[in-house]
Amino acid sequence: MKKKKISILGSTGSIGTQAIEVISKMPDVFEVVSLCAGDNIEKIREQIRYIRPKNVCVKSQANAQILKQEYNDLNILYGDSGLEEICTDKENEMILVSVSGKVGLKPTLRAIESGIDIALANKETLVMAGDIVMRRAGEKNVKILPVDSEHSAIHQCIKNAEDVQRLIITASGGPFRNKTIDDIKKATVEETLHHPKWNMGKKITIDSATLMNKGLEVIEAHHLFNMDYENIKVVVHPQSIVHSAVEYYDGSVIAQLGFPSMHIPIQYALSYPKRLKGIKTDSFDFVKAARLDFEEPDLEKFPCLKLAYEAGKAGGTYTVCLNAANEEAVFAFLNGQISLWRIYEITKEMLENHKNISSPDIETIIEQDKITREKVRKLINL
Ligand code: MN
Repeated sequence: MKKKKISILGSTGSIGTQAIEVISKMPDVFEVVSLCAGDNIEKIREQIRYIRPKNVCVKSQANAQILKQEYNDLNILYGDSGLEEICTDKENEMILVSVSGKVGLKPTLRAIESGIDIALANKETLVMAGDIVMRRAGEKNVKILPVDSEHSAIHQCIKNAEDVQRLIITASGGPFRNKTIDDIKKATVEETLHHPKWNMGKKITIDSATLMNKGLEVIEAHHLFNMDYENIKVVVHPQSIVHSAVEYYDGSVIAQLGFPSMHIPIQYALSYPKRLKGIKTDSFDFVKAARLDFEEPDLEKFPCLKLAYEAGKAGGTYTVCLNAANEEAVFAFLNGQISLWRIYEITKEMLENHKNISSPDIETIIEQDKITREKVRKLINL
């Protein structure tokens, strides 16, 4: 069988690492063309030994030099130009975009322009530029396969897209589901990073605690599945077993279930439309799962979710502003500069003062992103 050629952007992150676990279980099915990562050189070395890619791209020239001396049979690249080379390399049949934050946008667009299918784990790309990304992918006949577990679930539940009337996105509720607003206002970085169900990167873990992650996922779902915001419902489901669901016009609901694991959505995106044995997870056990609870999200405690709906409905550059303000505020929280609650307050303030631009092009999106981040940093450093 011909191997499917894949490259991974963000290979040393949480999703990238798990993708390599999936791929290395199936060396006859997948071949890794390129690995792209930041500067975690130890982990890159380990991954090179493990899967022997053709090209490796790191962030800094200094680390590229080190790797060049160690692996003279590999093509070692660095920086934006290296990333560009990898994203436009037509040897790729698919690129897994598993970087975190706004840095995912440009490489995703470059890969789409080159006609390469995308497995998308970076939700910020669609939050910032969903209209453009989905339109260009359509024009180029490029598939955008969601890796985010909720969107993978929805993708797996949709047979006839025209018959779908509603999407139901589940949320674990994060570490503060049963806490009071006062507890949330006093939350430390450590408490916030302690997610009850999923082990993920830092940025997304903070977003999960504020439910901004769910808000970004609503916007992501709006673009991926072309669904009005009114018809996207968030429901809190603490067991994280129902990964999301689709409601059809006849009232029938189809949900996707399983014990929490990112291996399944990663593998499904890489192997779609086939399902492979790959990483063998235990068979699902309804008795072991025992009960599935559902509740309304508490928008008083988690107002970021409301902000995301408002920004999404307003459209234009509002979602760019939402994403940039939130991301900068999350970094400031992780740096100990602001409280968890300030993430909401800052994002709200930025949205209230935002002058919307409808149907922005990529340059406008990048500019608005930059302007918002500068404003947030100024506000924090006052
Ligand atoms: Mn998710």
